Amino acid sequence: MRNAARSALPEAPVCPACHLVCRLTNGREVYSHRPDLHDKPIWRCDGCDGYVGCHPGTTRPLGTPAGAELRRARMLLHDQMIDPLWMTAIEAGGYQPEDRAARAKIVRAARNRVYAFLAERLGLSREETHTAFFDLETCRRAWRALQGVTYPEIRAWAHRRRSSS
Ligand SMILES: [Zn+2]
Repeated sequence: MRNAARSALPEAPVCPACHLVCRLTNGREVYSHRPDLHDKPIWRCDGCDGYVGCHPGTTRPLGTPAGAELRRARMLLHDQMIDPLWMTAIEAGGYQPEDRAARAKIVRAARNRVYAFLAERLGLSREETHTAFFDLETCRRAWRALQGVTYPEIRAWAHRRRSSS
């Protein structure tokens, strides 16, 4: 009864591919071979078998559901385009941080700049610019927007933007 007494479930996500409202299920259905995930709440689209997990301890979806193709596109975009840009910012940017805290600060700033740059290129708000929300077309546009771009170019873009505002 504890669940029933809780406030209404947050709005179910809509599948960007099928435009169907997702159904709340759990890991037992999606990850049958992973008993450790069986109790995790999962939103699933019955149209394409896309799914999305939830923020820890809630049924709030982490993003929009994705089928195999979209999951792969999001993963590739993340691993091969977005992450390398900010993760290598120290080397690429010629920084010489004094300690771990200084390194962390540079990397954090670099990550913010990369996402801000991508948001502007895609015409999205910063809040909308997460791969977990992207559909296939947005993944492709993001890929093209970042292809061949280096971190120093993004940093220069961020400086120009700051000085013009
Ligand atoms: Zn779907």
